[in-house]
Amino acid sequence: SAVADLALQGQEPAASHSKAIRPSNGHSNSNGTKPTTKRTEFLLDRNLHKSFPLVVGGKGNLLYLADGRTVFDATSGAAVSCLGHGNPRVIEAISNQIKTGVPYLCSSFWSSEIVEELCKELINSTQGKMKRVYLIGSGSEAIEAAIKLARQYFYESDPNSPRVNIIARESSYHGNTIGALGVSGHVARRAPYEPFLMDNVHHVSACYAYRQRKDGESDASFVARKAAELEAKFQELGPETVIGFVCEPVVGAALGCVPSVPGYLRAMRDVCHKHGALFILDEVMSGMGRCGTLHAWQEEDVAPDLQTIGKGLGGGYQPIAAVLISSKIVNALLNGSGQFVHGHTYQAMPVQAAAALEVQKIQREENMLQNVQTQGAYLEMCLKARVGNHPNVGDIRGKGLFWGLEFVKDKATKEPFDPRLAVAQRVHDTAISAQFNMTMYPGTGTADGYAGDHVILAPTYICTKADIDHIVDVVEGVVNQVFQKMA
Ligand code: PLP
Repeated sequence: SAVADLALQGQEPAASHSKAIRPSNGHSNSNGTKPTTKRTEFLLDRNLHKSFPLVVGGKGNLLYLADGRTVFDATSGAAVSCLGHGNPRVIEAISNQIKTGVPYLCSSFWSSEIVEELCKELINSTQGKMKRVYLIGSGSEAIEAAIKLARQYFYESDPNSPRVNIIARESSYHGNTIGALGVSGHVARRAPYEPFLMDNVHHVSACYAYRQRKDGESDASFVARKAAELEAKFQELGPETVIGFVCEPVVGAALGCVPSVPGYLRAMRDVCHKHGALFILDEVMSGMGRCGTLHAWQEEDVAPDLQTIGKGLGGGYQPIAAVLISSKIVNALLNGSGQFVHGHTYQAMPVQAAAALEVQKIQREENMLQNVQTQGAYLEMCLKARVGNHPNVGDIRGKGLFWGLEFVKDKATKEPFDPRLAVAQRVHDTAISAQFNMTMYPGTGTADGYAGDHVILAPTYICTKADIDHIVDVVEGVVNQVFQKMA
């Protein structure tokens, strides 16, 4: 499918959170006769001993559970459902595409208008800085494709190219497939599979101001320190052996919404380009509007050579992700073999494209980036005012509608809690309980210099000021309760 693919790719208002409308789907279980959590042998996820509440429907910011509860989704799932749940326009677009009879087409020999239109929309969204789109089914697959494209870029001109090394960062997460996990620096997620993982990936430190910035250190000198570290890694490996450097503009799951310090992305790109290596941004979680610009790199106009996008692209209505490819790489392939040696069965599917295109159109037509910025600034202000002084809230950081709270045992020393206390998980469990009915996305330390706990808030782009007030009320209530109980 490779040749064809490269050639190819030239609301509802937020419902009130307090008095939610119940769905009339017959699943409701206010009489308590049906099971409301379920664990079956065939539903095997990573928590083998746990059972989860059953969800029977959703609308806007709300999820409806089988036990009759309504839960406010303050995380858009895993920072995915950017338009909220049950958007009628997206549902109709998907349904119309299915009715054409071709939800799927083999991308080795067919294209479709909807796929072409989505790619055009995405290219336009980069002001032409990226030239081609490679559509795929998940963020991990996008990272796999991006690192293969990066290697192929050098292979095209020299099949014996010594460029074999990738530099990525500690405390990073880029996906769970073997290649994507190999790039990731998340020690705990790597541990069981370490023998399978590529040994040509090398890690430098993350850009994590809260724990790394020295007293009084300016942005410029912090960034210079990071650039010097990357430069040293190039020198250690031999600059002529490095394919490129991969990072997230705002670290999502691994650290909890940690933004790059101003100037960092440009400095890192400069180091890469000085050595003829590629600068690769993973925007699977932080991109597609989540951080207040459509692409996170647009805030400082630091376009990468390759970029992955995912979660917010299809807003959870279809599994879809993509690699955006700059002209440098497109031209190398066009002038070389003319094909990307890659491909999956489920890629560039019309039904995926129909969902993503509608999600993107709605975002654009309803100027949702403005709402992300406005509500994001309000969320930041309220969080800092209401829980910023809490003795166990060490840091509140983020961008747009992507905010992380890091919990510490001691605010002055930033000492984290003992991981066995599972603080982030407690916060999540308390938030999602019948007392608070809200989601907060938990994460724990990655065991390489950072052993802390954080939660992520990633509300939908349709959230209102009243929704933010509700979120912050709950955050305050949950934080107070969890740490009072632990005291
Ligand atoms: N990259 C980043 C930055 C992510 O946050 C994730 C998932 O959380 C991935 C890649 C992997 O995406 P997926 O889970 O869709 O495979």
